[in-house]
Amino acid sequence: MEFRDLKAQYQCIKPKIDKAVTEVMTQGAFIEGKQVRELEEKLAEYVGVKYCISCANGTDALLLALMSWNVGAGDAVFVPDFTFFATAEVVALAGATPVFVDVERDTFNIDVNKLEQAVRRIKEEGKYVPKAVIPVDLFGQPADYEAIKKIAQKYQLYVLEDGAQGFGGSIGNAKACSFGDIATTSFFPAKPLGCYGDGGAVFTDNDEWAEAIRSYKVHGKGTDKYDNVRIGLNSRLDTMQAAILLQKFDHFVQFEIDKCNYVADKYTELLNGVVEVPTVKKYYCSGWAQYTIKLADTSQREKVMKELKAEGIPCVVYYSKPLHRQKAFQDILNMAEDLQTTCELCDTVLSLPMHPYLTDEEIRQVALCVIKAIRG
Ligand SMILES: *Cc1c(COP(=O)(O)O)cnc(C)c1O
Repeated sequence: MEFRDLKAQYQCIKPKIDKAVTEVMTQGAFIEGKQVRELEEKLAEYVGVKYCISCANGTDALLLALMSWNVGAGDAVFVPDFTFFATAEVVALAGATPVFVDVERDTFNIDVNKLEQAVRRIKEEGKYVPKAVIPVDLFGQPADYEAIKKIAQKYQLYVLEDGAQGFGGSIGNAKACSFGDIATTSFFPAKPLGCYGDGGAVFTDNDEWAEAIRSYKVHGKGTDKYDNVRIGLNSRLDTMQAAILLQKFDHFVQFEIDKCNYVADKYTELLNGVVEVPTVKKYYCSGWAQYTIKLADTSQREKVMKELKAEGIPCVVYYSKPLHRQKAFQDILNMAEDLQTTCELCDTVLSLPMHPYLTDEEIRQVALCVIKAIRG
């Protein structure tokens, strides 16, 4: 069994992918070929924003957004303590200071009450200027943007939606990657919409930021790439990856999102009452980047992992270490006081195989194995 079965996916759409890849090689426009703009238009339309700007990966996408806002030294940027490293890494890379905020136990997403406490504390201390918040749509479920935007307005913060895991999710009729002032996603192969290498994109309705990001991603170009008006990056999405994504996108929208929701429902049906199953809030829809259960404690998790391993079922702990305990951040001494929930989650979460190609039989096998480990 695969944790995320990219090989099965390829077999399912092989003729289309092979044709698209051959076309790119025949055309020879490997950088900024027409497929890149075509993809950007398609994704902007799907998400419901004015601009989609593709780039080299999801980490650069976040960095480009911060660069367009001139976030830098002296600025505080609020990030969840429970997320992938890149969410906070880009803040430090931009020269600003990440402030770690605890998450909600139920949704794994940033805790808005603790966010407001942290913003107030930073304001009162006066050492850093609160500048932005980066909510993450963790494991596929959008963060609570209604509450986040209220706080952002009150304290004049930019909202940067890290939708690396969120693409395909929604709140009501609004799609993930439309909630932030700027939003980003990643096309890393194992993400909900993945390519065959690295890739990413930035989404925004704002003309000025979109223009700055288009410049920053090509060496701070002015009228062309030999006219340089800013210090930027080399961060483009290859034509090959865009061509692959164009084919995968249709399949993702027509089949994969629904199937992932089906798999999640099946798991929940079988596991509810045995372990703590993930919950999706009313009016919210998850893209199910991960299906993450919570065990009673570390030793119970060990037991379940051992049992799964014995049956050849892959599982992963996302994430085993809170960001504030990463060595790379050891010199940052501006912890918001209470990061307890993140610490508990790091000790108890476990992500099970989740992808659109799991069969009913495989779902049963995984669930029964978890149940066996717990009930003996
Ligand atoms: C994967 C991921 C990123 C980074 O994306 P890359 O394309 O790997 O650079 C950022 N944030 C979160 C939450 C992610 O899961």
